[in-house]
Amino acid sequence: AGVAEREREMIARRRRLLGPAYRLFYANPVHVVRGEGVWLYDPDGRAYLDVYNNVASVGHCHPHVVAALSRQAAVLNTHTRYLHETILDYAERLLGHFPPGLAHVMFTCTGSEANDLALRIAKAHTGGTGFIVTRLAYHGVTDAVAGMSPSLGAAMVLGAHVRTVPAPDGYRARGRDVGADFAAGVRRALAGMRAEGIRPAALIVDTVFSSDGVFTEPPGFLAAAVAAVREAGGLFIADEVQPGFGRTGDHMWGFARHGLVPDLVTLGKPMGNGHPLAGLVARPEVLASFGERLRYFNTFGGNPVACAVGMAVLDVIEDEGLMANARAVGAHLRAGLRELATRHPLVGDVRGAGLFVGVELVRDRDSLEPATEETARLVNGLRERRILISATGPAANILKIRPPLVFSRDDADLFLTAVDDTLAEIGAG
Ligand code: PMP
Repeated sequence: AGVAEREREMIARRRRLLGPAYRLFYANPVHVVRGEGVWLYDPDGRAYLDVYNNVASVGHCHPHVVAALSRQAAVLNTHTRYLHETILDYAERLLGHFPPGLAHVMFTCTGSEANDLALRIAKAHTGGTGFIVTRLAYHGVTDAVAGMSPSLGAAMVLGAHVRTVPAPDGYRARGRDVGADFAAGVRRALAGMRAEGIRPAALIVDTVFSSDGVFTEPPGFLAAAVAAVREAGGLFIADEVQPGFGRTGDHMWGFARHGLVPDLVTLGKPMGNGHPLAGLVARPEVLASFGERLRYFNTFGGNPVACAVGMAVLDVIEDEGLMANARAVGAHLRAGLRELATRHPLVGDVRGAGLFVGVELVRDRDSLEPATEETARLVNGLRERRILISATGPAANILKIRPPLVFSRDDADLFLTAVDDTLAEIGAG
């Protein structure tokens, strides 16, 4: 009772101190005080399986990352206007994970800043002002990128030169060519811009379409839309904040599944495993006009501590074989979820790549009516079993499953059993 009381008080304090814009997860919010690997712990020492946090991608409080952070923090932390080797070593190492055409990297503290910078660079290079995003995209918090984030809700007024296109929803396409449909939407948006005298600057997409509902299949479906934008003089910006750093298993970056080399790539979340480290990778010829006319300085971006952390994160991804783990455990997890679909009619579709998995719940497999309330009950029911996930998509009926990449087969089995039990409970209720 003491704990419940304290938590009620914390909720009231949040509201009083932080104001009305913040949201908590779950009907019964979770209070955590410690993290390790895939586990989070509450004040009573109870463990919660984290099947959702793609920021702590190499595992919560990974000792190698924490050591690198503390070591550098104890020696020097300053900005990028002095010579320092950390930023160069990290830049070299990070760019080594990109195709050769992408040869410059700039550092920020958040994915939002990286996207905001990408927009400025795209405008400078193309002379255009028009941007195309998906119908439920999320690209961040600055005025410019929030104006490209329709997932913030109907109250979010999009930028005057921002146009939305339907997401490449392979489940609802029912056998239609997802890539051709997506490209047709992009071509319609480009034609609309042309009619209004707006020159296109870029198509920007999260390459796993996380907030739209997790769309990864079939690989290559993005190519036609990207070709259409380039033909019209615009750039392709790959927002890798969600899929980047090996999560999709087969590749380090989501765009690689589509056989594409973007003009600009934005990075964030898992880049610093929780430390605020983000960035932008560019083709040098695209960055030239911006870089020659304007200088760029980000007070905290690219500082020695951030770069030491980024380097340590890459060490862990490579040394612990986390991409291979994402591939293998992701496949095992999807197979288990598909088996659940044979027994639970609510499970309409299981999709994703590596350890980025979407499960769409529907009331009817013919009409595909979204099972919105059931999904909320499942997410909250799992929380009561101390398993943490969330839901996404236009009707909030798509489970978003993206655990730290150190997630094991045993962790996956624990999760599958809990989903099975909770679905049985919902079915019975
Ligand atoms: N792009 C995508 C696809 C994201 O999911 C997010 C964060 N949820 C951002 C950009 C913004 O990143 P940040 O919160 O670090 O500003």
